[in-house]
Amino acid sequence: MAVPADILRTAVERYLDLHAHPELSGAEHRTAGLFAAWLTAEECSVTTGIGGHGVAGVLRNGDGPTVLLRAELDALPVTERTGLPYASTVRGVMHACGHDLHLAALAAAVTLLARERDSWSGTLVALGQPAEESLTGARAVLTDGLYERVPVPDVVLAQHCAPIAAGTVAHARGPLLAGSRTLEVVLHGRGGHAGAPQLTVDPVVAAAAVVTRLQAVVARETDPAEQAVLTVGRLHAGDQPNVVPDDAELGITLRAFTEDALDRLTAAVERVVRAESEASACPTPPEVTVTGSSPVLMADGATARAVFAAQAAHFGAARMRDWPGGMATEDFPLLGAAGAGLHGRSGIRSVYWMLGTASSAGVAAVPAPVPGNHSPEYAPDVRTALPTGIEALAAAARALLPA
Ligand SMILES: [Zn+2]
Ligand SMILES: [Zn+2]
Repeated sequence: MAVPADILRTAVERYLDLHAHPELSGAEHRTAGLFAAWLTAEECSVTTGIGGHGVAGVLRNGDGPTVLLRAELDALPVTERTGLPYASTVRGVMHACGHDLHLAALAAAVTLLARERDSWSGTLVALGQPAEESLTGARAVLTDGLYERVPVPDVVLAQHCAPIAAGTVAHARGPLLAGSRTLEVVLHGRGGHAGAPQLTVDPVVAAAAVVTRLQAVVARETDPAEQAVLTVGRLHAGDQPNVVPDDAELGITLRAFTEDALDRLTAAVERVVRAESEASACPTPPEVTVTGSSPVLMADGATARAVFAAQAAHFGAARMRDWPGGMATEDFPLLGAAGAGLHGRSGIRSVYWMLGTASSAGVAAVPAPVPGNHSPEYAPDVRTALPTGIEALAAAARALLPA
């Protein structure tokens, strides 16, 4: 069944408001307040301020399992260039990852399920998670006792906007999104006068050698059939052309589909950094610190198949897609089994799917690529993607909460 017109109209209004008023990770004060108010209006029992600005609403509807639906509250430090009439009004901040669409869809799915509570039985939890873009929010809400404050879910569900055709929903057969590690590297040289390099140990040259050498880790040390990424996203050394600095710093992101591969990549970075530091005769050994990580996102097979079947029955097979897996990363797996070490609950199943947001005009505009997530020009086809997102969530929840 299509989303009733009044629910869709409200969802569109909410989306436009969220899109125009984005907030950065950890600063989602207004967004959290709106989301809490929307859930309260559906007679959810609402808890706020979980792990920062986290919001959870619980809708109890008789016996049955507990299903948690998650959306993210935060936006990105990106300056919007879509030219849309409802573009961000906050300079340098933009909902460039579609989290506004996730939130509007989730609130509308709760309305739909609250209105049709004869069609399902169990407990629904709607979570507005803060700080997803910094990959800290899931951990924060869990360590702040999310699963003591709401019923522990049997299944956690989420969807994410992706630049595939709007109106489609995509599931993966294997991993959906990569696991990640973030590494900070410091190379210690010996600073001095740029005109007397023989008296210095130049960390800029050492850092350049590290960056070049690291390119071989994926190209030459990784099985070509395996997907892995090693990106040096930040490189900083010195401030003046005529001064050799003391230190150089690198910020590195690793992505892969298994923890083994991430371990191997991490060890390779440590080895290359150590060796280049020695090759440059740096006076002090380098530092390599893992400052962040996120688990591989893998849906639970049988539960994901049940959700896929329910969505396929609702949308028709032509709107269902295969998702090949992507090298983006998420902290959502922590809410499920991958976070057992944090929340102490084993056996929480996860299902996740990608929600198409590219307009048919955009898809047809070959060879110009459709601006994807995190682009300043990212502009979901809301008219098509929003009702699809609402229906995808409701169909998934109903499949797992049968009457
Ligand atoms: Zn993002
Ligand atoms: Zn995102």
